[in-house]
Amino acid sequence: MNFPIHRTKIVATIGPASGSRSTIVQMVQRGMNVARLNFSHGSYQDHATMVALLRSVSAELDTPITILQDLQGPKIRVGQLPEVGIELQVGKKLTLVPQSEANEDPDTVSIDYPYLAEEAQLGEQILLDDGLLELEIVAIDGLAVVCEVVEGGILKSRKGVNLPNLNLRLPSMTEKDRKDLEFGISQGIDWVSLSFVRQAEDIRFLKQFLSERDADIPVMAKIEKPQAIANLDEIIAECDGLMVARGDLGVEIRPEKVPLLQKEIIRKCNLKNIPVITATQMLDSMINNSRPTRAEASDVANAIIDGTDAVMLSGESAVGKYPLKAVEMLAKIASSIEPDLQFANNPPAKTDQTHALSEALNAIDKTLKLRYIVCFTATGYTATIASGERPQPMVIAFTPNIDVYHRLNLVWGIKPIYLEREGKTFEDLVATAETYLVEKQLANSGDQILIMGGIPTQISQGTNFLKIHIIP
Ligand code: PEP
Repeated sequence: MNFPIHRTKIVATIGPASGSRSTIVQMVQRGMNVARLNFSHGSYQDHATMVALLRSVSAELDTPITILQDLQGPKIRVGQLPEVGIELQVGKKLTLVPQSEANEDPDTVSIDYPYLAEEAQLGEQILLDDGLLELEIVAIDGLAVVCEVVEGGILKSRKGVNLPNLNLRLPSMTEKDRKDLEFGISQGIDWVSLSFVRQAEDIRFLKQFLSERDADIPVMAKIEKPQAIANLDEIIAECDGLMVARGDLGVEIRPEKVPLLQKEIIRKCNLKNIPVITATQMLDSMINNSRPTRAEASDVANAIIDGTDAVMLSGESAVGKYPLKAVEMLAKIASSIEPDLQFANNPPAKTDQTHALSEALNAIDKTLKLRYIVCFTATGYTATIASGERPQPMVIAFTPNIDVYHRLNLVWGIKPIYLEREGKTFEDLVATAETYLVEKQLANSGDQILIMGGIPTQISQGTNFLKIHIIP
């Protein structure tokens, strides 16, 4: 398979529009790096089939595909409604009740949150169906919460309910999330993301859950609640990556607040050197059209300029008409703007050898115009720190660890290569890099590459060398 040229990673949500082998193969060939499996939908059988398919395509194309398991988290939904839904008319009353009180009254809707009446305040806003419908609480009567419709429309079964201003009495990981994650671990997923994270404790809980099962899987917090914004620094300190989940964030905090929050979240992740995904509605019109709007193309470009590691497709690749064109469009936008970008020169996040050596990457590239930066990395750490410098040359990460190989593919600018056997000496490492690049016709005689690694390889002394190597 051809080497990718875009540094920004592409996450595609897999769904009915992208579930076939040939579509997955073509999405990867056009630039998809990460497959997101959304556990709000689909059976275990479907997900297991997809994991096997993704691993098989990865082996066939000799390229990593990161599998991201996205846990639903504490999402509240309305109950079952007539097939055609019910019409909510502005100014009319609608009563919300817990599931235990569900009834046939056409103006009553049940939700799967039993504490609404206890916590509701008169005048509070309730949003339904991704914020398309809006209610205001006007009375509380026992377990029933009477609302007035402020923004009307059709409400259908199982649509989401957002209660932005309430401190929900829901566990960070629901019973379903726990079962789903047990299943994800058994399937060997590469990353796990948790929806509706509110505080650092939610991430600690998830990490404890993983460590009790000996599962060394990096954890991503989806930032979509006002409480997560209030606790952002503590959450970032605890997790391995973040997602700017703009869909629910825009509902819970209002769309006009999202652009600056996106910049702040990305900046903080860049400073800590953890990957960040910018998600939702990036090419929304491509669900139905073969080309994006100019505003969408600009939105994608601006997320990249902000410093995002990855951009994500949701409905575009899961249920849209043009999943391949949407991936291709993200890759085109990224590769068209990246050569002209200058990223901020962040201070090192830590004072270790790897950071000290990585600080030199851009200075060396400025003088020598490097073809590649090559890292030998057992845990992925060296490559991630090198990527944090946002160098122009691609970071080629050789790793003997198959989990690291798949995981690293989410991180900006890294091309992971799986090494079945690790070299032992310094000369072995240099020869491995040179042979691979020459055999794959990725480098030409006279190209200068910069190699980072740690020797002796058998004894862990961290990353301790930089070698400039000229391809003979
Ligand atoms: C979002 O809300 O932007 C998001 C990515 O979450 P989900 O697609 O799970 O609603």
